[in-house]
Amino acid sequence: MTPAAYAELNLGALQHNLDKVRGCAPDAKVMAVIKANGYGHGLIRMAEALKQADAFAVARVDEGIRLRNAGLGHRIAVLEGFTCAEELEKLQYYQLDAVVHCLSQLDIFDAIAGQPIAAWLKLDTGMNRLGFKAEAFNAVYQRLSQCAVIKQPINLMTHFANADDISDDKTLKQISLFQQTVAGLPGERSLANSAAILAWESSLSDWVRPGIMLYGISPFPDATGQQLGLKPVMSLHSRLIAVKPIEAGDTVGYGGSWTCKKSTMLGVVAIGYGDGYPRYAKIGTPVLINGQRVPLIGRVSMDMMTVDLGLDTEAKPGDPVTLWGDDLPVEEIALCADTIPYTLVCGVTQRVRLVEKTA
Ligand SMILES: *Cc1c(COP(=O)(O)O)cnc(C)c1O
Repeated sequence: MTPAAYAELNLGALQHNLDKVRGCAPDAKVMAVIKANGYGHGLIRMAEALKQADAFAVARVDEGIRLRNAGLGHRIAVLEGFTCAEELEKLQYYQLDAVVHCLSQLDIFDAIAGQPIAAWLKLDTGMNRLGFKAEAFNAVYQRLSQCAVIKQPINLMTHFANADDISDDKTLKQISLFQQTVAGLPGERSLANSAAILAWESSLSDWVRPGIMLYGISPFPDATGQQLGLKPVMSLHSRLIAVKPIEAGDTVGYGGSWTCKKSTMLGVVAIGYGDGYPRYAKIGTPVLINGQRVPLIGRVSMDMMTVDLGLDTEAKPGDPVTLWGDDLPVEEIALCADTIPYTLVCGVTQRVRLVEKTA
């Protein structure tokens, strides 16, 4: 019998998706983004499987340290940089690249000695999250280029706000503001996330930073990874643990949010929001049982969810269930739960076993 909730990881698909990145950006080096536990796929496991990437990017210092402790010698950029001297010292000790995005970081650099580290100076071209505005950029660049603990030349980066919307020319504006601002400066450049790699060729530069597409998932709201030539890495599975008849008028689950209209067979699946299945998945969200799509009914609870198997079902307790994966795109489930697929894969919780798919 299959175990209860587990996520199967297809590392062959991961390799395929990395090849796809290289095909889209043949002249760029690839910084594989594996923040947030490798988008829920396992930080170390993804790093090991993506050894052919040229570098890794994580969000936090601790994530970089975990990679070093696992023996990974790659260049690793910490996208949120550091906020205090202790964190900067860790970046130095573990030789992690710092993203520099805020004035307060410059004072910390000035106050510290020791080993030089590589820095990515971040220009805010319109995302208005991290980074220096264009007007401030040159002064910051000059200050950093005098800094003894920063390896020269300084690397240059920005991040897109709307790259997943191919009808929005904001991305082109961001690209041109970046190019104007960094013109003539030495140092490598990095702009593109997955959506830009796939849709905005002029954003490609020395380094690309793919995240979601490596996991086989579309960054665009109106496409699946499969439609873009990607292969999903994660499939989420569980099993049926009960099958029973219900009659017209019966309500199902907490709040009785679903009422049975005519007799049918109810199936109970051992997965819920405690595993990361979205509680806001709507009634009718497809679930795959024995290769057949059946609709979710009632509210998703912590450990279980319920489906309408239909009167003629042959499904029985123990049968395997797929919540998303090869034949049920996670992008489709995200639409049914009013969210984006990023949140679904990142939200898979610790109790879900991550197992590698054996060919
Ligand atoms: C998360 C992130 C990425 C990767 O984005 P995807 O949409 O997953 O490709 C790239 N750059 C930065 C700065 C990020 O925060």
